[in-house]
Parts: sequence; structure tokens; C-alpha cells
Amino acid sequence: MSKKGFFTTNLHSDRKSNPEHGVLHKAVHPSVAYGYDDARELAAVFQGKKAGYSYGRQLNPTVIALQNRITKMEDGLDTVAFATGMAAIASTFLSLLRAGDHIVSSAFLFGNTNSFFGTLQNFGIDVSFVDATDAANVESALTDKTRLVFVETIANPVTQIADLEAIGKLCNDRGLIYCVDNTMTSPHLFLPKSVGATLIVNSLTKYIGGHGNALGGSITDCGNYDWSRFDNIYDTYKKGDPTSWGITQIKKKGLRDMGASLGPEAAHHLAVGSETLPLRLDRSCANAQRLAEFCNQHKNVNATYYPGLDSHPQHERASRLFKSYGAIFSIDLVAGVDCFDVLNRMETVVSSSNLGDTRTLAIPVAHTIYFEMGPERRASMGIADSMIRFSVGIEDIDDLLSDFEAALER
Ligand SMILES: *Cc1c(COP(=O)(O)O)cnc(C)c1O
Repeated sequence: MSKKGFFTTNLHSDRKSNPEHGVLHKAVHPSVAYGYDDARELAAVFQGKKAGYSYGRQLNPTVIALQNRITKMEDGLDTVAFATGMAAIASTFLSLLRAGDHIVSSAFLFGNTNSFFGTLQNFGIDVSFVDATDAANVESALTDKTRLVFVETIANPVTQIADLEAIGKLCNDRGLIYCVDNTMTSPHLFLPKSVGATLIVNSLTKYIGGHGNALGGSITDCGNYDWSRFDNIYDTYKKGDPTSWGITQIKKKGLRDMGASLGPEAAHHLAVGSETLPLRLDRSCANAQRLAEFCNQHKNVNATYYPGLDSHPQHERASRLFKSYGAIFSIDLVAGVDCFDVLNRMETVVSSSNLGDTRTLAIPVAHTIYFEMGPERRASMGIADSMIRFSVGIEDIDDLLSDFEAALER
């Protein structure tokens, strides 16, 4: 059978898995437990000798249907879903790393990931933060203890774009795990596998779910890494093809030990949301381009950060790698214009901390999501006190433009 396109594959994914009654949506299965007539079969499932369900923290049919959709979207080998994006990141790192290991991370990070890496340091895992827009900085931070390199595709709020291809090549040459957080681009705009990623993070809460009505996260293994090269795989997971050992360990240890499993109701919401991902994101990106261009020439805006502007330092890289430039942009205001006043004058744009919603959301980042990290780290990340981050939705562009005109003009 020919390989179908992104839309077709996702829309028909549940139906193709032979569901009960020919339903087009995988059913929501709330059951936590699974009963067996033959107790020997239950034991075989526990021992991995037979495929089957044991307990809801480890496996749920509705969640598996969503995992399969994401695997297909990312062109991966297998996916594990978690309760949130942070749960996916934390469970993966705690499953794969040990005290004494070292990781290299982009310094331009989602705030909560930055916070988690601080926690890892308290458990004896060393983290180097580097400017990952240039692979040379990643290379000079590597040590003989380095196990993994972590980057985001488009970092928020300043929209730096990591040197994705060169870091992929570096990781592949050195046998390192290359973990790419694809949340900002989603598999519709970019496939991290194409630059040699080993593991892909998606916060399903954002563009994949897309409606701000369910939390979720996932890890996808691209199937291109020989995990027999990785020292931290437990013997019990060294079964079958070594490309599958890593995701098996994340699935077993991550869900069992951390227990941040995705619920079946949320999985259903996220799966339905994912069906319109390309439609929503194309429109959000087009709206973001118009709004960023408007802000970029406005006298009350000091700087506009958006990969779709010619002036963006990685504009050429974004054009080469991504289908379009994303739906997040940020502005710094000129001195004397207050970010809170600007936000309060907006009628359509909502002051809110989420992103990737169908609605346009805005947040004064230095005073909210990046407040706790303090002024020094904020300055090192290029975050000004007046900065506002916009997550652009699918509203009518004229309504958004008139909001921006009215809010910025005073
Ligand atoms: C939101 C986000 C996360 C965390 O996802 P949650 O579902 O909110 O836990 C991770 N990475 C990036 C880039 C994000 O934007």
C-alpha cells in the first residue's frame, strides 16, 4: 500500500486499527484493570511473553491509539504518552540518566524544562547550558560523561532556532542521544528525524491537541539509534532489536516509577484535536506573519522576534528546515510604554500563559513564566522586562490587527 499523506494517515488511523463496531474514533476505555480467565495468561503478560494489558498506569487502549497517531506523524518507531509535556521530559530523563552523567542543553529553553534541569543537577546529573544556535558551542561543551544533547526547535520567547542539522551530525558522529523538543513546530512544520534526532518531545497540550482543553505529552523514538551503545540500559530491557531498547525502558521505568500516565479522556480530546493540526497551524502561522510584520514597523515596538522576518538571525535556517515560521512571536516595547497597559487594551487577545490554542494568547513573560528564574538568567536569555509573547490563534486577521493597532498606538 502506498504511503499516505499527513492528513489522511492521521484521520484514518483509528479506523485502520480494526476497532470495536467499526467506530471511526477509538473508544474511551476508562478501565484501570484487565481481567484474565486463565491466570497463566496474566503471568505471561507480566513477563512480557505475551502482548496484553496489565494495569492502567502502564497501558490503556485509548492512549495507545493516540501514541500510534503520533508515531506516524513523526515517522518514528514508537511513542510513549504522558500526562503532560513536562511529565514526558522528566520521565524520559529519569529513566535514561544516572548520577555522574552529563548532558548538554540549549540555554534557550522553555522555563519549566530549565527548572527541571536544575532539579537534575541536584541529583548529580551535570547540565551544561550553551548557545545552541551554533553547533560549535555544543561540541566544546561535550565531555566523556556526556550522554545526551537537548534542544528545542524554536525556543520561546525569543524564537532562537537551534543549529538542528549540525547538532544532529555531531550527535550521530559521537554516538550521543539527540533529544529534540518539537512542540513549537510540531510534526506538521518539521520532522526532527530528518536531522538525525533520536528522541522527540511533543507537548500535546499545545499545537497537537490545539484547543487548550487537555494536557498531554509524548516521547517518540525515531528508531535510528543503536541503544547497545548506551551504557544505562538495564539488562531486562536488552531484548530484541537494540533500536527498541530505549523506548522500552522509557515505557517501563518512566510510567511505572514516575506514574505520570495520560488519562484516556485526555487522550481522546488530544486525538480529535490532532486531526485539524495542519489546518489550524497553517492559519496561525499566516496570522503570526502578518502581526509580526505589523509590530516590526511600529514606532512603539523596540524589537520583534519572529523567524519569518528577514531580519531574524536564523531566518534562512528556518526557511530551509520548516514548512513555515511558527505561530509564536515576541516584542519588546520602547521605554515608557507599559506591557501591562498594552495587554489590557486588547479585546480579542487574551492574557494567558498557554500557547498553541486556537485563540490568540499573550503574556508578559518577565513578570510571569520567567519571573522565578531571576533577572540575571533572564538577561542571559535575552528577555527584557517589557517583553510580550504572543501565541497566535486562528481568529480573523482583521480583528487581530485592529487589536494590535489600538493597543500599541497610544
Ligand atoms: C509547554 C511546553 C512544554 C511542557 O508541556 P506541558 O504539557 O505544559 O507540561 C515543554 N516544552 C515546550 C517547548 C513547551 O512549550
